[in-house]
Amino acid sequence: MFELNASQTSPSSIREPARDVPVCHDCDIVVAGGSTTGVFAAVAAARLGARVAVIEQLGMLGGTATASFVCVWHTLLDAAFSKPVIAGLVAETLSRLRRRNVLIERPPSPHLHFIFPPAELAIELDRMVAEAGIRVFLHARCAAAVKNDAGRAHAVIIEDKSGRRAITARAFVDATGDGDLVHQLGFETRTAAHLQPPTSCALVQGLDELGRQTQGFSLNKVVFDPKYPQALRPGFLWHARLPGADVHMVAGTRVHGADCSDAGQLTAAEIEGRRQIAAMIDLVRKNVPGGDQFALVALPARIGIRETRHAVCLHQLAEKEVLDGTRFTDAIGNGSYRVDVHSSNGDGLVFRYLDGREEYHTADGRHEERRWRPASEANPAFYQIPYRSLVPRGAENVLVAGRCIDADEGAFGAVRVMVNTGQMGHAAGVAAWLSLHSARPVGAIDTAKLRGLLAQQGAFVL
Ligand SMILES: Cc1cc2nc3c(=O)[nH]c(=O)nc-3n(C[C@H](O)[C@H](O)[C@H](O)COP(=O)(O)OP(=O)(O)OC[C@H]3O[C@@H](n4cnc5c(N)ncnc54)[C@H](O)[C@@H]3O)c2cc1C
Repeated sequence: MFELNASQTSPSSIREPARDVPVCHDCDIVVAGGSTTGVFAAVAAARLGARVAVIEQLGMLGGTATASFVCVWHTLLDAAFSKPVIAGLVAETLSRLRRRNVLIERPPSPHLHFIFPPAELAIELDRMVAEAGIRVFLHARCAAAVKNDAGRAHAVIIEDKSGRRAITARAFVDATGDGDLVHQLGFETRTAAHLQPPTSCALVQGLDELGRQTQGFSLNKVVFDPKYPQALRPGFLWHARLPGADVHMVAGTRVHGADCSDAGQLTAAEIEGRRQIAAMIDLVRKNVPGGDQFALVALPARIGIRETRHAVCLHQLAEKEVLDGTRFTDAIGNGSYRVDVHSSNGDGLVFRYLDGREEYHTADGRHEERRWRPASEANPAFYQIPYRSLVPRGAENVLVAGRCIDADEGAFGAVRVMVNTGQMGHAAGVAAWLSLHSARPVGAIDTAKLRGLLAQQGAFVL
């Protein structure tokens, strides 16, 4: 029962009666968010002997890669495609998908490299957490967090089918993408002035067949053609064929100006994303010969969210550090994916490469090549992600991993892809264990030991 706030006739708040929340589980490390980032954090810590729980608000693990159909990972090689710079749990997961014969591997390029069915990844992640003995809470949302008297994070309050319950732990990893846990714990976060827009992806059937039947058919041309009243606002549409049948994941919608860490804006973005998917399907079905065979196979469980909150950490990774290939003594991961910034207002897309090239894809489909720095003989082959960008300022026993790490606009544009967020998760799990094991705050662990442990677990430490 809820009571109206007595001072108000038309209340702006109601008082929920105070109550004790049952502790349903106690462990060493709680990972909030069960994308690949969160699962890798959990698996890495569990393999070191920690008792780990993962809390995921949806009914499956994998986050954007599964629930939002972004089932496309980039190369594990450096920017020259000459030597591997990424390994660890990212590579292990790809090997597992390869063994199941569900992985498409394209020739190395800056574009998509690995493609897999989202459902296969979700199943593989179930197996990985089961093998590591991790306790998983699905359909469980981290709704609040509790600190103890010393200011250390002590428990997360989840809401799931069984009600509102607490999980206590000694260390925490925020892999919610949105920085929900650090926000709930009261650590400083920031939201960029120009957020990269969310996109609802869809699984569709019949694109290969349309390509065979209709010469010159291009989904891009149809969907953005201004002669159709239903056409989408010009943007950047790409699709990737899944292994097996004529099914593609299509990413072409855009909801500009939506901050998906806000409940109202998230709801509106989900509905607008689906409206754009419906428009895309109808445009093809009505206007392309043979288009009646084009079918919507599945909608994502969640809109694909590119960017919301960032934790304010001990170091904000800068675009210059990425593009210069700056080496860090506390590096926990390496990347070669380009800076990739989708404009917040629909004004196209910018790619910046380590070799000084820049590509600008305008909203109306034009493509301009320019340079962000003059050509030089030696270019960095990869960049690094420092551990300090995962440590929220003032945190004793909390780390972040994934898209909520601290990075400026350009650096974030590069590190946000999953071969990079996966390395962050792997490192956060090991670092959380090391912090407990060495009885040191997360900001004071021995990063040489962290890197040594990561190497022992198969990650590339360069
Ligand atoms: C349309 C689109 C296309 C992209 N293309 C590519 C691409 O081709 N390749 C690539 O590598 N990257 C791509 N990216 C970027 C990449 O997918 C994301 O940056 C990355 O997946 C983010 O991972 P994450 O783990 O930080 O967050 P998420 O994947 O968002 O995972 C967060 C997880 O936490 C859960 N969660 C959130 N809040 C709570 C809570 N309060 N309680 C419990 N659980 C919670 C969520 O349900 C989710 O499972 C794309 C992104 C988009 C949107």
